[in-house]
Amino acid sequence: MGEEAIVLYPAPPIGHLVSMVELGKTILSKNPSLSIHIILVPPPYQPESTATYISSVSSSFPSITFHHLPAVTPYSSSSTSRHHHESLLLEILCFSNPSVHRTLFSLSRNFNVRAMIIDFFCTAVLDITADFTFPVYFFYTSGAACLAFSFYLPTIDETTPGKNLKDIPTVHIPGVPPMKGSDMPKAVLERDDEVYDVFIMFGKQLSKSSGIIINTFDALENRAIKAITEELCFRNIYPIGPLIVNGRIEDRNDNKAVSCLNWLDSQPEKSVVFLCFGSLGLFSKEQVIEIAVGLEKSGQRFLWVVRNPPELEKTELDLKSLLPEGFLSRTEDKGMVVKSWAPQVPVLNHKAVGGFVTHCGWNSILEAVCAGVPMVAWPLYAEQRFNRVMIVDEIKIAISMNESETGFVSSTEVEKRVQEIIGECPVRERTMAMKNAAELALTETDCNSDG
Ligand code: UDP
Repeated sequence: MGEEAIVLYPAPPIGHLVSMVELGKTILSKNPSLSIHIILVPPPYQPESTATYISSVSSSFPSITFHHLPAVTPYSSSSTSRHHHESLLLEILCFSNPSVHRTLFSLSRNFNVRAMIIDFFCTAVLDITADFTFPVYFFYTSGAACLAFSFYLPTIDETTPGKNLKDIPTVHIPGVPPMKGSDMPKAVLERDDEVYDVFIMFGKQLSKSSGIIINTFDALENRAIKAITEELCFRNIYPIGPLIVNGRIEDRNDNKAVSCLNWLDSQPEKSVVFLCFGSLGLFSKEQVIEIAVGLEKSGQRFLWVVRNPPELEKTELDLKSLLPEGFLSRTEDKGMVVKSWAPQVPVLNHKAVGGFVTHCGWNSILEAVCAGVPMVAWPLYAEQRFNRVMIVDEIKIAISMNESETGFVSSTEVEKRVQEIIGECPVRERTMAMKNAAELALTETDCNSDG
């Protein structure tokens, strides 16, 4: 028998990849004799490269090996011809099955593979894992409420024949507050969407796995976790969160990271609102201008990550011409605008940060919880509207950014919410309570671990 190994198969977008790699590190810390093998499919879209992160993990953790698979060609590489990011991603993951099979075959010959852990988006790999004897677990990178939704989606589908989720006024999911159908994950809002049936099939597969590891903790999502075991009758779930990437700036040559933190050093405690919208969040030029006007009117201090609008995708980001005339000089005492990417975890943990306007990606939510920073929820894509309902109505650690029917947010709304989150907002106390509960959950995970 060879060395014992665990195989991890993350989905390539950064939010999925990083949390799976962090899971690998956690497994390793409890079982140092294991080797961890991570199968990497090249990302179909990647505004921010994961290369630096991967190479830093490779050099610090010799027991973690990355297996880079060759790129596959999708039917259409244009993301604009698709309704959402998930469709291209799922196609690429499905087309990668033959390479994954070859990698698993080779690993099984050289190691005693004890288990494989796959991202929910990689469910198609179950078609080939049947050729191997190791058990397969899921790692669900969103919350337990969203997992309850994934389990329950096939039932919703069967009981609402012919209806599109987006048109159902109220959806009742075990363990989840009643929600509007239009708040469900984007990829399944319409039955004729290219990936609707894929997600129904994935939902059915969940209960066939050996278990589901989930990046959440009991105090955060107690009702949903209980509903999965009791009402949806799936007992093998393991809430091991909050698992987030550590907030150190490893690369002292990362000038942008250092300048953000230096700027924050000169700001008063809990005075700065951080605005950052995940790895893929984009706004139209009109919306960027409206945010700028709202921020300026609010008079609050801010650190704002700005990207080129989709209509200017092909040009280099020029803040001066994108933002209202004179905005940068008028706000230079109070604000900092960062191009494209900021070191989110260190920023959230900086004592000057008092509020976070977020797109409601699950990692961002956990990072804010761990830093004890209250949020303004401004969902953009994927399951983020669903997450907003959870953090605003159920967990009560965020206030909502209210948008119009078309999704546009006015400068007045930005101004109000930014002032509210920095002021005596009702969710601040609850956010601190959740931060403490998160710390406790992590110590309990350590204590309960028997290797
Ligand atoms: N992130 C960051 N800087 C940015 C934007 C994003 O460090 O400017 C990180 C963020 O800390 C989080 C991840 O990228 O860990 C985004 O994951 P999330 O699940 O929140 O959103 P997604 O990008 O998957 O929609």
